Amino acid sequence: MPERLFYPLFALQHRGQEAAGIAYNRNKKVVFYKSLGMVSGVLSHYLGEQHPSKVGIGHVRYSTQGGNKIENAQPFCIACNKGQIAFAHNGNISNSDDLRASLFDKGSIFQSTSDTELILHLISRSEKATFREALLEILPKLQGAFSGIFIHEDTLYAVRDPLGFRPLVMGQSLDMTVFASETCALDTLGIPDHEDVQPAEMIIVKNGRIDRVQWAPVNQKGQCIFELIYFARPDSTVFGYSVHMLRKKLGAALAAIDDHHGDIVISVPDSGNSAALGYSVTSGTPLEHGLTRNHYSGRTFIQPTPETRELGVRLKLHPIKRAIAGKKVTIIDDSMVRGTTSKILISLLREAGAKEIHLRLSAPEIKNPCFFGIDIPTPSELISNRMTPSQIARFIGADSVQFLPIDSLRSCVDNPDDFCYGCFAGTYPCPVKDSPMRRKD
Ligand code: AMP
Repeated sequence: MPERLFYPLFALQHRGQEAAGIAYNRNKKVVFYKSLGMVSGVLSHYLGEQHPSKVGIGHVRYSTQGGNKIENAQPFCIACNKGQIAFAHNGNISNSDDLRASLFDKGSIFQSTSDTELILHLISRSEKATFREALLEILPKLQGAFSGIFIHEDTLYAVRDPLGFRPLVMGQSLDMTVFASETCALDTLGIPDHEDVQPAEMIIVKNGRIDRVQWAPVNQKGQCIFELIYFARPDSTVFGYSVHMLRKKLGAALAAIDDHHGDIVISVPDSGNSAALGYSVTSGTPLEHGLTRNHYSGRTFIQPTPETRELGVRLKLHPIKRAIAGKKVTIIDDSMVRGTTSKILISLLREAGAKEIHLRLSAPEIKNPCFFGIDIPTPSELISNRMTPSQIARFIGADSVQFLPIDSLRSCVDNPDDFCYGCFAGTYPCPVKDSPMRRKD
């Protein structure tokens, strides 16, 4: 069992680098291994172990709610009046504060600050007799984003929230049914075909038999557009879209509204690669390899201070001077959040001798918090809340800065009303608290 969980999780490493874990059923008991760290560090020594098991789950963690602590690592494994349960969850429950307060008043004890644990409390406190009935009773009480998988005894349950914020796909081979956030995980198991778990759907897999339950009506979708812009891997299909092809379209849309086509276009690797290609094809500007990425450096975005974030970017991205010197450079990144990456990049490109630098972002200006599972700093830290694009250009030292307008973004997808644009537009497909959600205690 560990191998069959390890390789798909390894493919999903980009979705969370803070903690990794697996849980599976062995001799009728749920066993689990989890720790802070990356998949290879945490789980590779279990690879050689032969543990026959019919059902297992795994998780990589990226914290948005609940800090980077071992107590918050997943899967969560508990024993309660419904039996032994293991649970892995992607997303944020937006009414978690209210649910937690009411459980607390009734005597619940919490070990973690993650909203995942409260789902297990709700299941345990349900008066329904079985796990399945309890799950069906509590799911409608949750608001916000949850794509989740549970093990209960020898049965797997996959669930998705009614707005379908976070992706969840199902693939099958002769001897396996597999659920994953992205299709790149199924590829590691040689499973070429997949279908989406539908919003408000629960899929139950037991001894190879599949049972599908629609547990709530779906009136509207709120798929996270940022999954397509930045979060997912380009070789994945997410919400039915090839992530790479969609990003190419975003780059093409940027080129279509741009009147400054430089001598060369370069990308900020890796997140800007596909959009830069689309920009190059549409504008006719040659695509150059202008920046090299050091794949051994860690994530800069989650570093705690501006100084460590800055050092992180300098260690991660290096300009190729011969490609850049004396050129008018159009540089494409997927998004700007605090502006740290862009400011350093522009100074690196100047040092490398660029004549002009025009920064283009294949996303609109990020001005609002995400309540549904993407880590976005407080509104005051977001550069687009403090400056216009031309002020940003002056601040970061670029000749110009242009963001993709929301309307252009919407025109790149077939069904624009099926997406959540909350981080750009400030309106959300379900109720949220007024205060920005940023609790990492
Ligand atoms: P910043 O340096 O704060 O402007 O962050 C922008 C860079 O971080 C871009 O290059 C993005 O690829 C990346 N990024 C954007 N949003 C996120 C996020 N929520 N988590 C991690 N990285 C992100």
